[in-house]
Amino acid sequence: MSDTFDVIVIGGGPGGYVCAIRAAQLGLKAACIESRGALGGTCTNVGCIPSKALLQSSHLFDEANHAFAAHGIKVGKVEIDLATMMARKNDVVKQTTAGIEYLLKKNKVTYIKGFGRIAKTARDAHQVAVKGPDGNETNYTTKYVVLATGSDVTPLPGVTIDEKQVVSSTGALVLSKVPASMIVIGAGVIGLEMGSVWRRLGTEVTVVEFLDVILPPMDGEVRKQMQRILEKQGMKFKLGQKVTSAKPGKDGVAVTIEPAKGGAGETLSAEVVLVAIGRRPFIAGAGLEAAGVKISNRGFVEADENYQTNIEGIFAIGDVIGGQMLAHKAEDEGVACAEILAGQPSHINYDAIAGVVYTWPEVAGIGKTEEQLKDAGIAYNVGKFPFTANGRARANGDTEGFAKILADAKTDRVLGCHIVGPAAGDLIMEVAVAMEFGASSEDIARTCHAHPQLGETVKEAALAADKRALHI
Ligand code: FAD
Ligand code: NAD
Repeated sequence: MSDTFDVIVIGGGPGGYVCAIRAAQLGLKAACIESRGALGGTCTNVGCIPSKALLQSSHLFDEANHAFAAHGIKVGKVEIDLATMMARKNDVVKQTTAGIEYLLKKNKVTYIKGFGRIAKTARDAHQVAVKGPDGNETNYTTKYVVLATGSDVTPLPGVTIDEKQVVSSTGALVLSKVPASMIVIGAGVIGLEMGSVWRRLGTEVTVVEFLDVILPPMDGEVRKQMQRILEKQGMKFKLGQKVTSAKPGKDGVAVTIEPAKGGAGETLSAEVVLVAIGRRPFIAGAGLEAAGVKISNRGFVEADENYQTNIEGIFAIGDVIGGQMLAHKAEDEGVACAEILAGQPSHINYDAIAGVVYTWPEVAGIGKTEEQLKDAGIAYNVGKFPFTANGRARANGDTEGFAKILADAKTDRVLGCHIVGPAAGDLIMEVAVAMEFGASSEDIARTCHAHPQLGETVKEAALAADKRALHI
């Protein structure tokens, strides 16, 4: 039997399922193929959602231990019931994946369970073979294929991930006990978020990073401030170090490291090691080579500005095409791609995609960093405002960090914003809207911000860009 579709999306992550929904909204007959047995991809199953559930639980535990007393709230000994914490996280994931399945049904997208492979390419009639959970293969015909197969953990040579003692982010989300110690390899987003979860729950966390800085793509001032804050929280950093091996044994994992620039090495040991050195595109088994789809030398599917690969009718979106590996970037590409398939114009402003690190305080950045502006020789004004000078932050007892706005020196157009602080990820969204509309820092400064709000920090940073902050 062969069903025929206008669009078949391979991969049911934030890129894939959103693309299928938008295509169906626009009147295309759409199907979404997913092999993991649940929709939502990496993000919902083993990424954004479970990590944020554990970040929230561990944050509450940390607050109960360290913040309640200052508010005059006395609690007895605060204890962790890890099984309940994990069960709650699993429930959140289950509800979310079930919600996505409902959304596909509601929008009349056919959800095909199984592993998809491009079996044959032909103009307006590509064939996709799906190996279902029963092992049988079914063929489908489609005018367009959208590849949204996502990404997978980047392995580290010399380190074997067993998901017990040496874990990836997936294993770090399901540990059955709080380890006494953890070595995190990589001071990127996953390393700092999952490192924060376990540090808050009582693990001694040491982060080993190849470069001399944490969170490499972020603004320099933000990186430095965040490192100080995390160190104050008890996280240890070994920067400029490369890991040469990790050997699990009865008494934990022995990790050998040596300075990235050469010199004498040392051996560290910890109960658990988390490998978080990045993610790589996942394309295995999807029949791309046979179909002739062009893959870059870094393994990404090559796609043009319309998400079209070199093969007519085969498109690609999300982590598998590279760029910022973020769920919201994948989702927006899903929407744009579906609109293009439906014959509509569509585009994404890649200069206005926020990156957020959900530590506490949070870190958020959008647009250009100071380093990028300097490198590009663009003259800019800086406006900075600390949370210590914000009334709401003081009322909340959450005053670490600052907001910084970078505006073009000639036109005052907002070029970037970088925030370390409470709810930085929410606060940055007003700047995203401002940048999307080509706003100036004066526009943000003249927008009436409700009081007392953390967002007044962003307004004051915008005022500071013109050297007229009011509350400092
Ligand atoms: P994916 O979500 O990877 O989905 C691809 C799907 O395709 C998978 O479910 C896979 O099973 C399926 N698939 C692959 N090949 C086939 C095939 N041949 N047939 C059928 N199905 C197939 N991003 C954020 O923006 N915010 C966050 O807070 C955040 N937190 C994260 C935390 C962790 C621990 C991790 C690992 C990632 C996090 N990310 C976060 C990144 C985010 O998860 C990804 O950017 C996002 O999931 C990419 O979406 P995608 O649709 O491109 O791919
Ligand atoms: P990352 O790219 O954020 O960080 C990896 C870090 O590992 C970098 O600092 C890098 O310099 C370092 N590194 C690389 N090789 C190393 C080595 N051999 N030894 C020591 N350090 C090494 O990658 P990640 O943290 O694994 O996250 C993967 C992707 O998932 C990212 O692209 C990120 O965007 C996405 N993600 C996003 C969020 C979020 O949006 N909040 C959360 C988690 C993950």
